[in-house]
Amino acid sequence: MRPAFLSRLVNGPLFDPVVYVRILNERKSVLFDCGHFQGLAPRHLLSLEAVCISHTHMDHFMGMDRVLRTILHRDEPLAVYGPEGITEKTLSKLKSYTWNLSSGYALEITIHEIFANSVMTTRARADAGFDAISGQTVPRTGTRIADCPRYTLEAAVLDHTIPCLGYVLKEPFHINILKGAVRENGYIPGPWLGDLKALIYAGRLDEPVRVATESGVRGVSVSRLREELVTVTPGQSLAFVTDIAFTPANLEALKGLAQGVDTLFIEAYYLDELEAHAGARGHLTARQAGAIARELGAKRVFPMHVSPRYHDRLDEIYAEMGVNQGGTPAGA
Ligand SMILES: [Zn+2]
Ligand SMILES: [Zn+2]
Repeated sequence: MRPAFLSRLVNGPLFDPVVYVRILNERKSVLFDCGHFQGLAPRHLLSLEAVCISHTHMDHFMGMDRVLRTILHRDEPLAVYGPEGITEKTLSKLKSYTWNLSSGYALEITIHEIFANSVMTTRARADAGFDAISGQTVPRTGTRIADCPRYTLEAAVLDHTIPCLGYVLKEPFHINILKGAVRENGYIPGPWLGDLKALIYAGRLDEPVRVATESGVRGVSVSRLREELVTVTPGQSLAFVTDIAFTPANLEALKGLAQGVDTLFIEAYYLDELEAHAGARGHLTARQAGAIARELGAKRVFPMHVSPRYHDRLDEIYAEMGVNQGGTPAGA
């Protein structure tokens, strides 16, 4: 199956956990946490549609300045998701700069503050000096926090001695093009197949697609092409879980969020030898991270946010988690 998302653990397993996800066939991307990071070019940040913050400890939030600096002149809005307090923290960051020359800028930032049972949304525009445009609070049930044609975002409030969000990015469904059927129906493969997928994801089934055929280009409806060329299978999913205590309540919440997830990025801050220390600071050990991954049935698992003290003992981190460096759980 062709992947729907291309994910990258920007800093590798050590240091601040930053996961960049490109939505394939779209000029869009999503960033999970932004502490200190290198290795993302301006073009990567310019395609960001959403930044999902787990919590605002400095190692998860300081890179927000760099994101803002890079996208400041663009027209497309940015969505910021985060836990209780994210509105005030984001606005404080924005208000720490002077904006007297920004009246021609079109950037708008929409901040979504995620509580257990509600979401508060606040907008701030560059051309108004990022003054908060008072938002609205709507109740939420379940884990869904955003619906886009190519992905949905889900979140659960977890405990890290403070509220901390775990996230799942999901493809709503996966579109498979039957290559043999393309030729059998007299079509010639080309970029129009990407257009077809985009229109199916957007639910625009009555529209024509300009299809290359043996006898030239002609318009064929999305619904007909879907019938002839497409099978639909369950969508792919990716979870980002960091800075949480190993508690029954967190495990229950994660089961409701990320059961059976395809790819799991999870913190493994300490080795088991510092379990008490991890517990006191609301962090996971590698052994605990591995136990959570098995409980969720995650198909691929990657440790992140490993304490730099283990820079020469990463093999022990993987061994305690029970996964190899390619993300495959032992015995899978
Ligand atoms: Zn933290
Ligand atoms: Zn941290």
